[in-house]
Amino acid sequence: ALTIGIVGLPNVGKSTLFNALTKNSVLAANYPFATIEPNIGVVNLPDSRLNTLAEIFGSERILPAAVSFVDIAGIVRGASEGEGLGNKFLANIREADAIAQVVRGFADDDVVHVEGGVDPLRDLETINAELQLADLETLEKAIVRYEKEVRGKKTDPVVLSTALEAQEALQRGELLSASGLDLAPIRELGLLTAKPFIFVFNVDEAVLTDAARKAALESLVAPAHAVFLDAKIESELIDLEPEDAAELLASTGQEESGLDQLARIGFDTLGLQTYLTAGPKETRAWTIGKGWKAPQAAGVIHTDFEKGFIKAEVISFADLVAAGSVASARAAGKARLEGKDYVMQDGDVVEFRFNV
Ligand code: GDP
Repeated sequence: ALTIGIVGLPNVGKSTLFNALTKNSVLAANYPFATIEPNIGVVNLPDSRLNTLAEIFGSERILPAAVSFVDIAGIVRGASEGEGLGNKFLANIREADAIAQVVRGFADDDVVHVEGGVDPLRDLETINAELQLADLETLEKAIVRYEKEVRGKKTDPVVLSTALEAQEALQRGELLSASGLDLAPIRELGLLTAKPFIFVFNVDEAVLTDAARKAALESLVAPAHAVFLDAKIESELIDLEPEDAAELLASTGQEESGLDQLARIGFDTLGLQTYLTAGPKETRAWTIGKGWKAPQAAGVIHTDFEKGFIKAEVISFADLVAAGSVASARAAGKARLEGKDYVMQDGDVVEFRFNV
């Protein structure tokens, strides 16, 4: 499964956030056969549509999609030169498919800030600089190798030219994800700043309820997504009954918990989407990539579904809810039979027809 690596300076609230994520972990309940690794937290993708479908179909259970987070040790200034956990840590980020960077916005004199006072912009720049330096180092080594290989006609020259362009972009101070370069030829390098980023601002209640302050922080990281949460409150929310949790959230001006926001935005940032199936046994969200076609999507349920794919009967969630049942949706002409070239849409409620 695709994972999101949690990074940030020490003492910004990464562990607090990760503990909240793992307390919320669905692994044990829904994925009993998955290996449980201590540094991986698997959380539900919140989706209220599943409850609605489960009511319509009288489903016995609901299985939401999941998002995996991996806890990576903190970055310190100099990490790219081997400070702190240095290289081990960089190798861990290299394996993540997206990066959630936790930035400290909370003030608390009892919690030492490794860089002095609270200053989100400086912290962002510190982390980004380490990641850029690590990428430059990777590229320098790769370029030497690519030059040799291109001379020996073992490697496509476009690989070398892409690596050189990436190097220039980094030297100009850019993050590769924002460089506009097509980095596909050098994907094997696992460059860190080429990964999609989410910024998690761990802030006080005062900031959570301050729209202008949030907008200012958000503009520091745009076009990347920003999530605002209070990691301490998040870890308290987990232990509360839903009504009490809702009340605590409302008191901080939020409608959705920070963990739920992070799961949703993380899922989207990974390039994932879901389609839905429903019946008396279960209502379920299935994870696919954006832009996938029907047979590939069917293959997520079972490889036989992909091999023997005939058609997909698709009703959009909104149409199904409006009609009240599959039979009524069919009668109203809202059930579409889609073939193998159909591109799956978010909110599709699907039944596959296949040969075995
Ligand atoms: P990490 O080093 O990034 O993993 O940071 P920790 O999660 O261990 O947090 C460092 C300290 O900051 C701990 O004492 C936490 O209780 C505290 N802390 C974390 N999040 C918050 C927060 O949102 N507000 C306040 N006031 N303290 C927090």
